[in-house]
Amino acid sequence: MKMYKNRRKRKWWLGILISLCVVCGILAGWAGLTWDGPGSMGASQSREDRPWNLILVNKDYSIPEDYSVTLLELSNGEKVDERIYPKLQEMFDAARAQGIYPVVVAGYRTHDVQQKLLDNKILDYENEGYSRNEAEKLAKQWVAVPGTSEHELGIAVDINADTALCSSDALYSWLAENGYKYGFIYRYPQDKTDITGVINEPWHYRYVGVEAAKEINEQGICLEEYIENVYGTAG
Ligand SMILES: [Zn+2]
Repeated sequence: MKMYKNRRKRKWWLGILISLCVVCGILAGWAGLTWDGPGSMGASQSREDRPWNLILVNKDYSIPEDYSVTLLELSNGEKVDERIYPKLQEMFDAARAQGIYPVVVAGYRTHDVQQKLLDNKILDYENEGYSRNEAEKLAKQWVAVPGTSEHELGIAVDINADTALCSSDALYSWLAENGYKYGFIYRYPQDKTDITGVINEPWHYRYVGVEAAKEINEQGICLEEYIENVYGTAG
């Protein structure tokens, strides 16, 4: 009799437990169905939804696979995204009016050309006697891994001085002081190498648009920091 009572008691508690589990399961299912991740909270925008001039490409963020660009050829054969051409021209005209003579020495690069550049740099180091591993490490300090170079976007340019007419130092100073007015930023400054992962490149200018460039210049930040400030997330 006692045994029977106990068993009944146990069954009663078991019933409550099962009911609780069912209720919990329904709640969990409901929660799962109505919450589809942090993306739905509106805190950050996905890379693809950002304006073309604010796409971030670096060692951590590769060029989107479906990225496409309409190119415009410059008089020396280099190519750039046609959307940056008017501001690039405006910047060069302003420079020339002040005795500074810039030349675009590298604009758009295909993935294959970027790969060749890297391979050649690795070979150079190997020829100097470095092991393959060491050569790769050293080469990657100078040449971006294909898919992570802004040159593959077509909205970055390497600018050198026409040294018959002005010095490189004069050009780099002029660009650092004035580039942002035309929407171009000094993309890899010396004091930001730990964030950009790229050594100081006073010749590499990246188009981000006048508004962003002004803000980046005023705040003394790099593109990675700007993107983080605006979108709350890197990349
Ligand atoms: Zn460059």
